[in-house]
Amino acid sequence: MTEKAELQSVLDRAADGGRITPQEAVALLRDAPLHALGQAADAVRRRKFAGTEHIATYIIERNINYTNVCVTACKFCAFYAAPKDTRKGWTRDLDDILRRCAETVELGGTQIMFQGGHHPDYGVEYYESHFKAIKDAFPQLVIHSLGASEVEHMARISGVSVEEAVTRIHRAGLDSFAGAGAELLPARPRKAIAPLKESGERWLEIMETAHGLGVESTSTMLMGTGETYAERIEHLRMIRDVQDRTGGFRAFIPYTYQPENNHLKGRTQATLFEYLRMIAVARLFLDNVVHIQGSWLTTGKEAGQLSLHYGADDLGSIMLEENVVSSAGARHRSNRQEIIDLIRAADRVPAQRATTYEHLVVHEDPANDPGDGDRVTSHISSTAIDRGIAHPELQIVDAR
Ligand code: SF4
Repeated sequence: MTEKAELQSVLDRAADGGRITPQEAVALLRDAPLHALGQAADAVRRRKFAGTEHIATYIIERNINYTNVCVTACKFCAFYAAPKDTRKGWTRDLDDILRRCAETVELGGTQIMFQGGHHPDYGVEYYESHFKAIKDAFPQLVIHSLGASEVEHMARISGVSVEEAVTRIHRAGLDSFAGAGAELLPARPRKAIAPLKESGERWLEIMETAHGLGVESTSTMLMGTGETYAERIEHLRMIRDVQDRTGGFRAFIPYTYQPENNHLKGRTQATLFEYLRMIAVARLFLDNVVHIQGSWLTTGKEAGQLSLHYGADDLGSIMLEENVVSSAGARHRSNRQEIIDLIRAADRVPAQRATTYEHLVVHEDPANDPGDGDRVTSHISSTAIDRGIAHPELQIVDAR
């Protein structure tokens, strides 16, 4: 068989629902014709969502960054401040956090992503008290936040086990883990960009523990910092193996490295085609993960639309506030109406979803569109972009 015929035979098998090996996935990622790859991934998506395959989803959420003080100093990160850097470091008090939650609810947001640095003083008690306060005030808000790295850190600060940390923050109000901190799980690229983070194996072990305790999560991947094709697929293999045991990963979300204001300057970002190939191969390889998210925030709106034809079923969020990737240069912004229009222009019916991916509103008829595009705008940045952006209702708060 020629190499081309071999690749097509792998694509056909994957499109029919067959499992592919890591070696086959590397070959597809590197050599499969782009359109054939997209067609196979789209075939899998359509079969997985039979009956609702015409729909693509989005969510309205807000990232709430409680502190940028962090002891972990990841090289790709433009957000953190070292604990001694009192000029750059800041923390938000609870009143500020609750005000941001109130604005999220008022603008129709259903989820918050509590996201911050590994503060040297923040143990389990900090997260318990904050999640409890948020849930007491806003029981309707889903707290989809944090990841294995934060759990490892808070457990160490409090001197408790990971099991205890997960159990306590779950009891206090955490609904699910956002899967932050996965970055790249294989050892070589992980050490190169995040040398002080726990190993990839440990990250997965903690997520597996969380799944076992009934706390589901999403999974993420940071691509474009110089990792190889084989390392990208190894990242997927590590996730797929855990998912075979737990079923606790609701989604896989690859996003691209942003190169400004960090210590990795000069590394190449992933190109649009690399990103689309990754989305498609993820759909084919991760046969046990239901949702694949296209990330327009780091790759751009057109890339987001295209991803819906390469296996993605979800276009992520209208993020009312975002500061982390904005700090590293992500400047793509949108609003609710534009996301609805983008999905329609990609020949899908848009639907606002919940954290658990249920459809909250299906926008079948443009005549019934919410008409609140000007208000529900993504994204304001209160720290990362000079003077933030002019959102009509959210205040810019200078946390310093
Ligand atoms: S990515 Fe997270 S853990 Fe790493 S330096 Fe930035 S804030 Fe800290």
